[in-house]
Amino acid sequence: MGDVRTEDGAPLVGVLALQGDFDDHEQALAAFGVRTRQVRTADGLRGLDGLVLPGGESTTMLKLLDVEGLWGPLGEALASGLPVFATCAGMILLAERVENPQQRSYGLLPITVVRNGYGRQFHSGTFALQLESNELPEGTTGTFIRAPRITAVGDCEVLARRDGDPVLVRKGPLLAACFHPELERGHAVVAMFVTAVRRAREAAGAIAAAVPAPRTAGAEAPGVAAPSKGVAQCASLRPAR
Ligand code: GLN
Repeated sequence: MGDVRTEDGAPLVGVLALQGDFDDHEQALAAFGVRTRQVRTADGLRGLDGLVLPGGESTTMLKLLDVEGLWGPLGEALASGLPVFATCAGMILLAERVENPQQRSYGLLPITVVRNGYGRQFHSGTFALQLESNELPEGTTGTFIRAPRITAVGDCEVLARRDGDPVLVRKGPLLAACFHPELERGHAVVAMFVTAVRRAREAAGAIAAAVPAPRTAGAEAPGVAAPSKGVAQCASLRPAR
């Protein structure tokens, strides 16, 4: 892949682009100086600093993941320790249990979600959030569109609620929202994800710098790896978060 790293040093985030509002995510990330790549194949998952599962229709996404042979490769990427940001349908894909109706999911986030649990399109809108994290500024709101409702939470952090229900949760590198922060430029929740991506990338870079690269025939400066190679080699060494 030619675009794994470029000289400008900006992190590269893959956005699952089978269906849904992936272009809104790309614009929201671009506003923070992050490069994005639309992911439609297993190859597209290589060399990323972060991954976004957008909103849309989770049933359609499940079908297309199968059609494209992406279910398995995407599952591996999601479980690899890469920072992941999932909104709405994306959050449904990550959940441990899905209801209304029950459907397959990756089960990486210990939550139960009820699809369309806040009502249908008519009930969609922007709502005040009760914040439980000082990483988010007072007044942060959430736009809910046929949103899933979290009805049970296991071992994960609740960062914000709407009328008492968890709506923004985090487990290690996995950040998931019932709502759509990507629809507002400069939204604090997108900023939170970008910070996680930059930190993870710095950590991976620090590990890469500390691990001597193997000698390769013809290498002019043994021990100095090309940046993309070094980071790729160390992806599996990232500290557990
Ligand atoms: N209702 C959709 C689903 O169940 C999610 C809606 C959204 O992503 N905005 O998949």
